[in-house]
Amino acid sequence: MGHRGFVITNSAMETSVPGVFAAGDVRDTHLRQVTTAVGDAAVAAVSTEHYLENLKGGDLIETIIKTN
Ligand SMILES: Cc1cc2nc3c(=O)[nH]c(=O)nc-3n(C[C@H](O)[C@H](O)[C@H](O)COP(=O)(O)OP(=O)(O)OC[C@H]3O[C@@H](n4cnc5c(N)ncnc54)[C@H](O)[C@@H]3O)c2cc1C
Repeated sequence: MGHRGFVITNSAMETSVPGVFAAGDVRDTHLRQVTTAVGDAAVAAVSTEHYLENLKGGDLIETIIKTN
């Protein structure tokens, strides 16, 4: 969390927590509009895909267990 409770991400929409991504109005950003939210979401989706691809089998199972 950053300024006024918004979530801080990098340009890949990664948060400080591995495997957790944020997009749209929840982000600490300069503009909160539909277009920026949709753009963020596209980036976050690709980042999520890369994150999952790079997980080893054991890590993936651990992530699934943690999120359920
Ligand atoms: C009055 C108003 C007018 C606007 N007009 C424009 C405009 O003309 N053009 C424009 O581009 N943008 C406009 N915006 C901004 C635009 O609506 C937002 O930037 C955009 O909707 C952000 O999308 P989002 O998916 O990040 O968040 P949201 O659209 O807010 O979606 C978040 C969703 O998460 C849900 N949610 C919240 N908490 C939880 C929870 N704990 N569990 C599960 N679900 C949860 C909410 O119910 C909501 O459905 C306007 C905003 C407002 C308030």
